[in-house]
Amino acid sequence: MEAVIMERFISEGKGNGLRALREIKPGEVIYSCKPFAFCVARDFLKTACQSCLKRGESLSRCSQCKTARYCSVQCQKQAWPDHKRECKCLKHLQPRIPTDSVRLVARIIFKLLSQSESDQEELYSIAEHQSHLADMSEEKKEGLKHLCTTLQVYLAEENCDLSRLPSGLDPVSLLARVTCNCFSISDGELQDVGVGLYPSMSLLNHDCQPNCIMMFEGKRLTLRAVRVIRSAEELTISYTDILAPSKDRRSQLQEQYHFRCECKRCSTEDKDCEMLSGEKSAWTSIKDSIHHLEQLQSEQHWDELLKESQALLHRHSDVVPDRNIYMLRLLDLAMDACISLDDYETALEYGNRALGPYKLYFSDPHPSRAVELLRVGKLQHFLGRLEEARGSFTQAYSIMSVTHGAAHALTNQVQRRLSECQAELNTL
Ligand SMILES: [Zn+2]
Ligand SMILES: [Zn+2]
Ligand SMILES: [Zn+2]
Repeated sequence: MEAVIMERFISEGKGNGLRALREIKPGEVIYSCKPFAFCVARDFLKTACQSCLKRGESLSRCSQCKTARYCSVQCQKQAWPDHKRECKCLKHLQPRIPTDSVRLVARIIFKLLSQSESDQEELYSIAEHQSHLADMSEEKKEGLKHLCTTLQVYLAEENCDLSRLPSGLDPVSLLARVTCNCFSISDGELQDVGVGLYPSMSLLNHDCQPNCIMMFEGKRLTLRAVRVIRSAEELTISYTDILAPSKDRRSQLQEQYHFRCECKRCSTEDKDCEMLSGEKSAWTSIKDSIHHLEQLQSEQHWDELLKESQALLHRHSDVVPDRNIYMLRLLDLAMDACISLDDYETALEYGNRALGPYKLYFSDPHPSRAVELLRVGKLQHFLGRLEEARGSFTQAYSIMSVTHGAAHALTNQVQRRLSECQAELNTL
């Protein structure tokens, strides 16, 4: 058991929070835990193991519900206690599959009903989690009621005695709590493969330039410092996408988490000018196309995606710089299309253009920048530009040893790539 280096406290103006018990160095593990409950995101039900969250093409299906998938017999056995009651519900509802939040709340309910009080060793119990029901718009409350109906239909097969739930934890308030307290579980390459509830981690408050980062390996969450944290300093993470101007970040945080962000970056509108630089009418037309382009990406319509994104790039590159966040997103989408269509030279050109802005916006070690460097490094390596590849992998490695840790599978992959590059350079 590692020494505890954080504690719960009341953060002025924010309510509950977590703070450091001593000085913490960048890359240090502050906390590590498994979820109270979790489930695979709907988009990954066919490709991710329901037990360890590893992705693979040939997973075996649960013979009962035909929905849950596993990478091994061992994983299936391990998942059975959590899947047993859910399995009947899934089977009953086929071919419909409820949303992630409904499936997650069902798992939380099964767990709460089977658990004894003494099982709780969290710093923050689910009963203490905020539901923010009072702050919700009528529209949002309607949405919640709708989810609740789905949840009841889903649970019908299992005859749950919901009256046995701890007081205050009725289905509606559980759904509300999950909405503002659950975390996306991402894999090393930052794909959101699942959602989970990690009660102690819900104490972490938000900052648009946080001093901590959450990384996942499978469903295990690890909280790491990305900067030097002084003793008694509050620990923070970012709840939202950093690549957005302060106005958008604030409204997103207000909408989903019901608070106004007063962090330093928001109050000073830090980097807003850079994010929205260039001719406004031009970047507005890029911004308006992003949603459609992302849809093409998720449906893997690569030819169309490439054609449309390149048309926008050609039209606007003169008047919108690469550091404009919508231009940056466009470059990433075009790069993805090129990679999928085996045009690695052009993909690398877009990747190289994106690296400068990534460095500007992710000044602290950040996994997004590491993953971008890894993508670019792989292209350089493939195209035989070994010196450049070595440079990219070296930078990715130094970020990931802080954000992912030396033992993470992706960090090991970068290290392997780096030695391969080095070996190839030595033979020249
Ligand atoms: Zn597995
Ligand atoms: Zn099943
Ligand atoms: Zn902020």
